[in-house]
Amino acid sequence: MPPDSLEIICSQCGEETLVRREPKYEGFKKVGECFFCASCGHEFPDADAIPFKRDRTPAIFGDDDKPETIDIFRDDEKRRNCRYCKHYTVNPFAQRCGLHDKPVEATDLCDDFKTRETDSGPQEPKL
Ligand SMILES: [Zn+2]
Repeated sequence: MPPDSLEIICSQCGEETLVRREPKYEGFKKVGECFFCASCGHEFPDADAIPFKRDRTPAIFGDDDKPETIDIFRDDEKRRNCRYCKHYTVNPFAQRCGLHDKPVEATDLCDDFKTRETDSGPQEPKL
């Protein structure tokens, strides 16, 4: 298994392939290496010109850069959920807003939100 650093996306043919290294001689003396695209044979003028795949891979696909888990409720919205509202009532069959007299979900957001003032904390649906 070749090291990752040999994987390239060829700037010439666009293939995701490997770089082929061949020793470069001046007379009988090895003076360096030549780098070729394993797919199309394009020669890269020097090691700095090799379009290594790791340089081209968008960061979002890197293992170190996974998208953060997004909390769908920001903190300020969380506090405005119906479940934390004093108008929110729960019975075994429904969750209701006492102010608007309509069914609500615990996660609903409401413009008329009023913080529940009891110390008992948010009331969980008892289903
Ligand atoms: Zn190529």
